[in-house]
Amino acid sequence: MHDEHDSASSWALETLAIRAGHDRTGEQEHGEPIFPTSSFVYGSAAEAARKFSGEEPGNIYSRFTNPTVRTFERRLAALEGGERCVATSSGMAAILSTALALLKAGDEIVASRSLFGSTVSLFDKYLGKLGITTRYVELSDLAAWEAAITPATKLLFAETPSNPLSEVVDIAALAEIAHRHDAWLAIDNCFLTPALQRPLALGADLVIHSATKYLDGQGRAIGGAVVGREAELEEVFGVVRTCGPCLSPFNAWIFTKGLETLELRMRAHCANAQALAEWLEAHPAVARVHYSGLASHPQHALAARQQRGFGAVLGFEVKGSEAEGSRAAAWSVIDATRLLSITGNLGDVKSTITHPATTTHGRLSHAQKSAAGITEGLIRVAVGLEALDDIRSDLARGLDALV
Ligand SMILES: *Cc1c(COP(=O)(O)O)cnc(C)c1O
Repeated sequence: MHDEHDSASSWALETLAIRAGHDRTGEQEHGEPIFPTSSFVYGSAAEAARKFSGEEPGNIYSRFTNPTVRTFERRLAALEGGERCVATSSGMAAILSTALALLKAGDEIVASRSLFGSTVSLFDKYLGKLGITTRYVELSDLAAWEAAITPATKLLFAETPSNPLSEVVDIAALAEIAHRHDAWLAIDNCFLTPALQRPLALGADLVIHSATKYLDGQGRAIGGAVVGREAELEEVFGVVRTCGPCLSPFNAWIFTKGLETLELRMRAHCANAQALAEWLEAHPAVARVHYSGLASHPQHALAARQQRGFGAVLGFEVKGSEAEGSRAAAWSVIDATRLLSITGNLGDVKSTITHPATTTHGRLSHAQKSAAGITEGLIRVAVGLEALDDIRSDLARGLDALV
């Protein structure tokens, strides 16, 4: 018989993205099927007993066993190079499930300061309530990470590259620090995806995904995933199974199909972003561009070493960013767009534009914004797959008016 899983270990990422994880049913379907069923039936009472006890593998109830969800999990695990993946109802559910699985009251997290806003709220407000405390450090400052670790630290959590300034941390070095202190390293790999960065191969223990972003890539569904070793993922599975933040089969199917074009899309996203970053850097109304693909980026060499590409989220500052009126200048560039969508979302074929200081980072105090480099003149673009000329013209309309 033609068994796809036999050869899967030697396949390249592009092939795994298209072929991994699907066990064809007796219907001989070519495309991956959707199983929209809440439960499954058994041939006998004895079979039911064996399945419930775990003695025999098989489907029981779609909160924790669904073939469509499993296909997505196996495919993503193959792409990230992890032993196992557990899918969740959102990226936030992936982070919550990981924390509930691995941490208890009295434990501490050390995290990068430049995290996704809801992740910070989850850590501070909700994990804080459970007696789990979080300390924040500068993403790229390895000495600061190490200094923040105490005997109670169980988890290091980072997003690299950061949003929106594209700061990068050396994942291998951070993993070494984590392991020296008996802590896990979790990397939120949402911005690069396994097509561009594979944290587990660099020594991280867990990879977190918001599948909502590039794994789908077309802005259609909310979902998430955790990938890692069997031991930790069995704990995460236990949380999803019992607490219920599970992924729906329909969304799992969307993400599975999204993964098939992941490598191709990420390559195209990167090419558009690189060209746009270079054009912006040369524009007379632009003071600075934050994109790790530029030679001017302070961590360009590290990014080039640990990533297969530089991603598609970039920040740029209009001239006079610290001065009065730089907010008005940034807003005028945003409001002059007709193609780019004014929204905080990213990871879509549609390019988006946002003003971090008054949206994604609006909850920060003036001092916190200054410390984080979120100036009033800063604009973030998540570069989509429209024609580069059209994206450039759309930004030129507002930028040219500032010169
Ligand atoms: C969007 C996002 C999340 C949260 O994912 P949801 O699917 O929206 O719950 C987490 N981390 C990063 C980096 C994100 O961009």
